[in-house]
Amino acid sequence: MVIIHRDHLHTQNPDVKKIIITIDGYSSCGKSTLAKQLAAKLNYLYIDSGAMYRAITLYFIQQRVEWNDSVQVKNALENISLEFIHNQISGQSDMFLNGENVEQMIREMLVAERVSEVAAIREVREFAVAQQQKMGAQKGIVMDGRDIGTVVFPHAELKIFMTADPAIRVERRFKELYAKNPNITLHEVKENLELRDYIDANREISPLRKAEDAIILDNSQLNLQEQLDLVMQWVEDAIMAHSS
Ligand code: C5P
Repeated sequence: MVIIHRDHLHTQNPDVKKIIITIDGYSSCGKSTLAKQLAAKLNYLYIDSGAMYRAITLYFIQQRVEWNDSVQVKNALENISLEFIHNQISGQSDMFLNGENVEQMIREMLVAERVSEVAAIREVREFAVAQQQKMGAQKGIVMDGRDIGTVVFPHAELKIFMTADPAIRVERRFKELYAKNPNITLHEVKENLELRDYIDANREISPLRKAEDAIILDNSQLNLQEQLDLVMQWVEDAIMAHSS
């Protein structure tokens, strides 16, 4: 048995096993902020699964794909190539759709208003999940979304289910979107979050749900540092449990 001290968990020590960390939860709970912090701290890959559903939605809108028609959906998916490419300036990964950087476009309201409908389609989910599972094959990954702990990586070593007070979530998302688009209203943001949460939690295929073995993280009253400190304890416990 290899004994590993907690202080050595974040090093390149080959005895320290890499794990899969899944973060699921409602819209605008701060999943991606936490996932990015963890990935940076652990030197893991961060994958924003929502960006993939957003990019597929953008393609469907641009190409006028009738998404109630499964033949059109299947044909369209055959023409979609998704890639995350590191951006040297921001230090983050940008979403590329068929070779084009669509990182800005997929965050716009036009996409946000349609993405949950598109993400509820079986073929779309199969297409995205297969790619997500490939990305996690080597472990050492943090992925956030709605079905990551339940469907994409049901055997992940650490599963987190995030939640926060709805009013706080609306406020956070509003601030984020307002910085880019001052025409946006609080009401619009609230309606969009409520609608997406409703569709995501009530769809037939892979609805948003807490995995039985996920730890609940309610961050309504936590600042970013407190949240990171708490979750790093869980990460260390999970790594220790899987390295011995
Ligand atoms: O995470 P984000 O808010 O960018 O996700 C956008 C939408 O993509 C969600 O509202 C949901 O409809 C869909 N999604 C999903 N499954 C995931 C990630 C996102 O259905 N794993």
